[in-house]
Amino acid sequence: MRIATPTRTRTILNEYGHRMRKSLGQNFLIDGNIIENIIEGAGVTIEDTVLEIGPGIGSMTEILSEKAKKVIAVEIDKNLIPILEKTLEHRDNIEIIHQDILKLDLEKLQKEKGLETGFKVVANLPYYVTTPIIMSLLEGNAPIHSITVMIQKEVADRILASKDCKVYGALTVACNLYADVREVLSVPPTVFLPRPKVSSTVITFTPKANQLTTGERKLLFGIVKDAFGKRRKTLLNSLSSGDLGFSKDQVREALGIAGVDPIKRAENLTIEDFKGIMNAFSQTVKK
Ligand code: SAM
Repeated sequence: MRIATPTRTRTILNEYGHRMRKSLGQNFLIDGNIIENIIEGAGVTIEDTVLEIGPGIGSMTEILSEKAKKVIAVEIDKNLIPILEKTLEHRDNIEIIHQDILKLDLEKLQKEKGLETGFKVVANLPYYVTTPIIMSLLEGNAPIHSITVMIQKEVADRILASKDCKVYGALTVACNLYADVREVLSVPPTVFLPRPKVSSTVITFTPKANQLTTGERKLLFGIVKDAFGKRRKTLLNSLSSGDLGFSKDQVREALGIAGVDPIKRAENLTIEDFKGIMNAFSQTVKK
C-alpha cells in the first residue's frame, strides 16, 4: 500500500511516535491522486532528476521516484530521516539529504551529482517559509528547469495577480520578473493530515533567462519596494519618499523618460513599466 493514504500515514506516524511539528509546516498529503496530478502538472519524466523540498514521511517522494530518473529529497527535520529511510527502502533512486533547503548550495549539489540539465523542483512547501524558498530558488545560480509547488492559496493569488488588482504587489513583480508562472490545480484542506485551515494551490514557475546585472536588479527591487511600500501614494510621492532617496525632480525626470504617468500607483504598473523606470533611473542618476 502506498504511503499517501490516511491509514498508512497514521500507521507510520504511530509506529515511530512522530509528533507533527506545526512550526515546520508539517501537513502530510494522504491522497495519491492529488500527488499524481501535481507530478503530471510538473511534467516529470523518466529523464528527470527531481529535487523535492520537505519529503515528510515520503508520500510524494515514493510516487515521484516511480516517474523520475532520480529524486533528491531535502528534509530539515532529523526525526523524519529514519522514517524516510525505512518507508522508501524499496526504492533505489532516492537520495535523502538532512538539511535546511535555505542553507543548501544547489549549484554545488548539481556539480557533485554531475547533472547536465537543471533540476525539476517539486514540493508541498512548508507554508511558514514559502516565499523565502521560492525567492532563493529563483534568485540562485543553480540551473533549475522548473519549480512546481503547492502553496497557500492566498500566496498563490498574490503571485498570479494581474496589475490593478488589490493583491498585486512586490511578490507578484519579483516572481514574474524571474519566471513565467501558471496555476496547475486547486487543492482542498481535506487531502492533508492534519488538515490546514487554508486552501492550497499548485503553481509552476518556469525560470526566464536573466537579462539584468546585479546592479540593475538591486535598483529594480529598490524601486518595487519603495513603490509598493506606500502603495496608496502616487509614484511621484512614493518614489521620492522611499529608501532610494530620490528627489521629486529626479523621479519626475525618470518617469518622463520611461513614459509612465507620475500620478499612477505601483499597482497600475506592468513588469515592463518597472523595468523602464529602472533603466531611466540608471541613465539619469549616472549623469
Ligand atoms: N512532502 C510531504 C507531503 O506532501 O506529505 C510533506 C510536506 S509538509 C507540508 C513540509 C515538509 O517540509 C515537512 O516535512 C517539513 O519538516 C519540511 N521542511 C520545513 N522547513 C524546511 C526547510 N527549511 N528545509 C527542508 N525541509 C523543510
